[in-house]
Amino acid sequence: MAFLTHFPLAPIHHHSSSLFTRFILSSKPKTLLILAAISSPQTATSHFSSTSTINPSSSLEILQDIPIAEEAPLQIAKEKLFIPPETEISSEKPPRILRGSNIVLSKYARDAQVISAEFVKSSVETEACPSDGSPEFALVGRSNVGKSSLLNSIVKRKKLALTSKKPGKTQCINHFRINDSWFLVDLPGYGYASAPNELRKDWNKFTKDYFLNRSTLVSVFLLIDASIPAKKIDLEYASWLGQNQVPMTIIFTKCDKRKKKKNGGKHPEENVQDFQDLISEYFEAVPPWIMTSSVTNQGRDEILLHMSQLRNYWLKH
Ligand code: GDP
Repeated sequence: MAFLTHFPLAPIHHHSSSLFTRFILSSKPKTLLILAAISSPQTATSHFSSTSTINPSSSLEILQDIPIAEEAPLQIAKEKLFIPPETEISSEKPPRILRGSNIVLSKYARDAQVISAEFVKSSVETEACPSDGSPEFALVGRSNVGKSSLLNSIVKRKKLALTSKKPGKTQCINHFRINDSWFLVDLPGYGYASAPNELRKDWNKFTKDYFLNRSTLVSVFLLIDASIPAKKIDLEYASWLGQNQVPMTIIFTKCDKRKKKKNGGKHPEENVQDFQDLISEYFEAVPPWIMTSSVTNQGRDEILLHMSQLRNYWLKH
């Protein structure tokens, strides 16, 4: 397959000190025993202040309550972890990893709870998006991947994402303001089996322009359905993001679903592993990934913590 070539991950996307520019790991393979629970639906207690300013000296105290791994130990090799910049790990100082993910926590993790969420606007082009300079995260995925459900789960509202499902809005860039300080962005789903070719080409151009030109985009959150085997279109999408050095986090959805013969007979955990193996062929270092379920809320707090550390780092640099 033509797209299965090696792309450097380390995207330097608009910001010279992007969170992704400095996490290339030592090439020496070194396996640390890292505890990461892979399938424990949980509601973690996180007590974060609502301020978005950072005081690194207080970070250790705050990080005591985060949902780090403690069950179902699994070994993740050091080179398969996402290690944020300014975060050191060693055998003396083992990393703190978010549950059901490969993400190491940094001192920038903070401010995890959603206090307010409001729909701001639907835009038909990048230039028309809100221009107040707040950092944003864009959710994208194949239609039916569970994007609206995840968006609602993140903001703890049943119907917020309905706004972007209204006829006429599904092909728009939909901005939601969170805690008056950052945006969640709902992008058009891709891979509609029934969409006419014309329309498919349109969304392609439209979202790609957004990815390449939106300077406040901190990371794309690419949603992948973990209840079925990887689809070619998902691999192509991940590959395109990598090739264009667009920072990406993979969100595996529907991790509560048990294996079914018609879906390839694999557990979500196996599909997650398979997807990583497939993309490892075209990424030099693994991107951050998190397992989620909108049914059990698995991964919800982890997504928010990951977003907070990306966002706070971005704001500082
Ligand atoms: P979208 O098209 O990507 O916005 O997907 P939706 O959020 O509308 O979800 C598509 C279908 O998948 C719906 O039937 C949802 O109930 C179901 N779904 C979404 N998320 C999950 C999940 O985490 N677990 C399970 N079991 N089903 C889900």
